[in-house]
Amino acid sequence: MRKLEFPLVGIFGGTFDPIHYGHLRVAEEIAETISMREMRFVPTGIPRLRQSPAASLQHRVAMVRAAIRGNSRFILDEREIRRGGVSYSVESLRELKRELGADVILCFIIGADAFMKLAEWHSWRDLFGLCHFIIVARPGHASTIDRDALPWELAEECAPRWVSAEDSLKRASNGLIFVAPTTLLDISATAIRARIAAGSSIRYLIPDAARDYIAANHLYSGEG
Ligand code: ATP
Ligand code: MG
Repeated sequence: MRKLEFPLVGIFGGTFDPIHYGHLRVAEEIAETISMREMRFVPTGIPRLRQSPAASLQHRVAMVRAAIRGNSRFILDEREIRRGGVSYSVESLRELKRELGADVILCFIIGADAFMKLAEWHSWRDLFGLCHFIIVARPGHASTIDRDALPWELAEECAPRWVSAEDSLKRASNGLIFVAPTTLLDISATAIRARIAAGSSIRYLIPDAARDYIAANHLYSGEG
């Protein structure tokens, strides 16, 4: 009997203000270990739950484009920017399902810091009907996801969904949560913006192409 394997597609949402090696390395490791067909970077339009980004949409998109160039599995997905207004992941995932076909298994990549707040997202319970979640640890926050610290309604929704082997993700079309062991890189966009504002180097924290773009456009310097 032939075993059917449906393609896995990673969805990496973020403000990417700016994109950095913390995002890129995690995306690369997950795409490789889970044999993903592609990894889509989806910059958010106006995030509903956080301060407005420091750089404009156009700049954030351009930095992602520059940073992922040359990686054939990485794709810039501009749907939230095109849609305009406030970004809802649930809408993007519904659209992606329609566009890529029902057979595709969507995996939403999310940092442990962001996952802790999932219950604040628009129609958050519906997300489990559309994708799996792959949680990555962030140094400086918790070293891994602390399940006991999840808000109770999120903990309850998640309880039957945790899987400990990445192979499980291929056997269900949605609704599972996997904590991916990835290289911990203590890099954040907040710290990068602060370094630029202070006139400090950001070399080796983000790809040169994105760093050149920031310099050429005087982003985050407080003057741009
Ligand atoms: P900011 O400091 O502005 O919040 P950020 O570095 O957290 O920026 P975001 O665009 O907010 O970047 O992050 C998008 C997603 O990537 C989130 O799910 C976040 O948790 C995750 N992420 C960001 N940096 C890292 C990192 N160094 N390691 C693992 N995951 C990360
Ligand atoms: Mg963040």
